[in-house]
Amino acid sequence: MTADLIGLVTDTFGDLVGRDPEGVWSAPGRVNLIGEHTDYNAGLCLPIALPQRTYVAAGARSDGRLRVTSITPGRRPSHAEVALTEISREHPGSWGGYVAGVLWALLAEGYAVGGLDLVLTSAVPVGAGLSSSAALTCSVAAAASDVYRLGLLDTDEGRRVLIAATIRAENEIAGAPTGGMDQTAALLSRPGHALRLDFRSGEVTPVPVDLSSAGMVLLVCDTRASHALNDGQYAERRSSCERAAATLGVPSLRELSVADLPRVERELDQVDARRVRHVVTEIHRVDACIQSLRDGDMEEAGRLFVASHESLRDDYEVSCAELDAVVEEAVAAGAPGARMTGGGFGGSAIALVPVDEVDVVTSAIETRFSREGWNEPHCFTATPGSAAYRDV
Ligand code: ADP
Ligand code: MG
Repeated sequence: MTADLIGLVTDTFGDLVGRDPEGVWSAPGRVNLIGEHTDYNAGLCLPIALPQRTYVAAGARSDGRLRVTSITPGRRPSHAEVALTEISREHPGSWGGYVAGVLWALLAEGYAVGGLDLVLTSAVPVGAGLSSSAALTCSVAAAASDVYRLGLLDTDEGRRVLIAATIRAENEIAGAPTGGMDQTAALLSRPGHALRLDFRSGEVTPVPVDLSSAGMVLLVCDTRASHALNDGQYAERRSSCERAAATLGVPSLRELSVADLPRVERELDQVDARRVRHVVTEIHRVDACIQSLRDGDMEEAGRLFVASHESLRDDYEVSCAELDAVVEEAVAAGAPGARMTGGGFGGSAIALVPVDEVDVVTSAIETRFSREGWNEPHCFTATPGSAAYRDV
């Protein structure tokens, strides 16, 4: 699979550009194990890099232009082109903004990048909450750093520069609100580890994740639910949290603990109090989940997954019927735990599943979706993969 995709971008680059690329770079999608809607509350989360990656073949151009082609097997290739000096929210617009935004952000930070030819393809499902967007921006950032000899891939410090640039690319050029979890996972993950991200201190701590010695696998299920990710809802949740923090007199909800919840319920209206309860209990669950993973206690990790899902469903109100159904079916078929992952309103769910039960759980989910008349879900198992690197 990996070799096929590297071959595909290399060959297409040769056909379109008329020379060999200088190399191929890739970056992974991610899935968050626990800690949802906590990033903008200075909280904690725990993503892993997926085995699925976006691959980009790259070569320098001397005319200061970016020319990029995205290929999806079975579909017509999509092209975007822009002069580096003309990159903005409108130019080149659409998906090209994610790519151009990376070069724009590196230039804005004072890094001397120039024109590029790029041909890319992705194994990360697009728009499924598995961060195809960061896989795209981070693979392009890796390529730009090496082609222009910036050396930013070589150290964690350099990689943090690329994280900042890819966040700016999404926020300021692609126009997508994103808190930094995806880009950090794509650039700092290690195989066999999740990353504990602390959005108050900026600390990034690798946490070993060895499900197989406990006889478990992580099942990821892209619901393919067609709800547009509801930006209005996301903004509303964010402003609930900001309003609540201001009323309670704290810089962020991170400063609260479970012991503060009675006061929260007294001082806030019911809806805001429920939003706060989700954030505070979810942050607490992240470290509890890390402890259960360290102990190899899968029942406890599963219980925390379910508690997280219920909190997102009932207190934060960002789940949907398809996500709830994945969790119900997985647990009924023998998973110790399951939860929605990502922002919600569609996207993907994850389940901790005994290795022998993967087929049973998957078919229970598929049967339910077919009975409900929903899109066919796409379920696959995932182990924690690597951050961005040069493939060839
Ligand atoms: P997610 O990151 O969860 O997959 P987003 O909405 O954040 O969802 O990002 C999806 C967007 O990223 C797509 O609509 C497209 O603009 C861009 N994108 C991601 N992967 C590719 C790709 N391989 N080719 C072109 N655009 C892509
Ligand atoms: Mg994204």
